[in-house]
Amino acid sequence: MEDYPRTLAELEQRFSTEEACREYLFSLRWPSGFVCPGCNNREAWEMSVDRWLCTHCRRQVSVTAGTVFHRTRLPLTTWFRAIWHVTSQKNGVSAIGMQRVLGLGSYRTAWTWLHKLRRAMVRPGRDRLYGEVEVDETFVGGEEPGREGRGAEKKALVAIAAEKRGRATGRIRMARIPSATKRALHGFIRDVIEPGSVVHTDGWASYGGLDAIGYSHYVTPFKGKPKDAAVVTMPRVHRTASLLKRWMMGTHQGAVRNDHLDYYLDEFTFRFNRRTSRSRGKLFYRLLQQAMQIGPTTYHQIIKPQHLGLG
Ligand SMILES: [Zn+2]
Repeated sequence: MEDYPRTLAELEQRFSTEEACREYLFSLRWPSGFVCPGCNNREAWEMSVDRWLCTHCRRQVSVTAGTVFHRTRLPLTTWFRAIWHVTSQKNGVSAIGMQRVLGLGSYRTAWTWLHKLRRAMVRPGRDRLYGEVEVDETFVGGEEPGREGRGAEKKALVAIAAEKRGRATGRIRMARIPSATKRALHGFIRDVIEPGSVVHTDGWASYGGLDAIGYSHYVTPFKGKPKDAAVVTMPRVHRTASLLKRWMMGTHQGAVRNDHLDYYLDEFTFRFNRRTSRSRGKLFYRLLQQAMQIGPTTYHQIIKPQHLGLG
């Protein structure tokens, strides 16, 4: 049963206290009653407010322990508003926008919260794409050549997959890749596309051999400039790439470092794949639910450079 607020007014009314927020988080984390994260025992004593003692292993558990909200110093009511804000805006929000709307004292808090929430935008164990899927790569971000200052930041290479659903685009997946090698591109395709699907690419040599790893490979050969051909023959990935770039320049004003890019790609994908959802409340519910399923991240983990998963 999916139970969520439909409007901001409903949210404000329903989640006006810490207790109401905690009860809601409890039902998301343990829909059929308490489960000890240490030993899976289902019985606990309620010691005090948000403090449960497992009757078996004696572990003390709070509903937010081990989730995105782990040891948060700010009220859950503020977190709920932050999540509403993030999911109710079609294009999302920047850290400065979030700081203003919530009246947060620090920009760093707003920035950190957005990063924590981005990590919850990928559903653990999500499905792979299937059917007919277009795949291409594109360069994102970076500084223009010859500019002063942070000129060392290079453009990042992003692999994109987009399902064909008739003339429309179905779901998408994206990942930063180190280079357009066979290893990286095949790795990406294996991660995000169900075997047996038809994978549509251009004639770039690194895509060769997809038939051997379980896909039907449909190739559009290069004509003229390689990436111009993609506009016509693979309109879905091409359109997704331009929307991504516009979003990075618009909402985030191009201020995305390459080592954070993966999480922005996750946010873009979360929004894109739910773009036709009529209920914003449902996105709020989904994000909160996923935030209860993933582990905590600290500010220091967020600012530490990330390593690419695909070699
Ligand atoms: Zn236990």
